[in-house]
Amino acid sequence: MIAENLELVRTEIAQAAERAHRSASEITLIAVSKTHSPETILEAVDAGQLILGENRVQEARAKMPLLPSRVRWHLIGHLQSNKIRQALPAFERIHSIDTVELARDVDRVAGELGLFPKIFLEVNVAGESSKFGFNPEKLRAHLEELLTLERVAIDGLMTIPPYDPDPEASRKYFVALRELRDRLSSEFRVPLPELSMGMSGDFGVAIEEGATFVRVGTAIFGERKGKAWKPSGAE
Ligand SMILES: *Cc1c(COP(=O)(O)O)cnc(C)c1O
Repeated sequence: MIAENLELVRTEIAQAAERAHRSASEITLIAVSKTHSPETILEAVDAGQLILGENRVQEARAKMPLLPSRVRWHLIGHLQSNKIRQALPAFERIHSIDTVELARDVDRVAGELGLFPKIFLEVNVAGESSKFGFNPEKLRAHLEELLTLERVAIDGLMTIPPYDPDPEASRKYFVALRELRDRLSSEFRVPLPELSMGMSGDFGVAIEEGATFVRVGTAIFGERKGKAWKPSGAE
């Protein structure tokens, strides 16, 4: 079932890329495995899906030793400052740097650990009060400083549009993120090549609008469990 779902998602990625006259190889699929058990996730890994996304540091770290070491992990959820030290060595990319303070803390801890983390700046394009992320104008005001951080490599921008069952409703937010990236990139003369946008309901639209990373959970693993996965025997 999971292998078939993956195949379907990959086909849809290829079709969306074709509609946009892009190469499917520009788009990285992150299988979002939060709440699912290592056994379930292994089905996806066995079907060739080696990039996984998790939104909680603790849950992800508990799963990591139970899955093949060739898996690469991306942190897609809000990162608390007190988890940075655990997160940095474990995740290949962090999609959710949402304040200047967090970026500074990540930079400092990365220095202590001898790491050069790849990050995305999360932007709250719709200005929803319930969501994390930079306000686009504030991001512009802070980018100069963010670019001086020595350890973090800012690869691009990430967003989560307001939930809407109609994928077309997300389009304007994806366009807004891309246009923001284009403006910042030319103003600050930095490439910011990556756009992390698009989830199960709208990744096709996101690819049409320039996504280079799509974060897809439900379409691969089915409905999520109610809460975080924990090893049996844990609290
Ligand atoms: C859970 C989650 C996803 C995946 O959502 P689906 O709708 O299940 O594909 C993507 N991005 C983030 C930040 C998430 O927290």
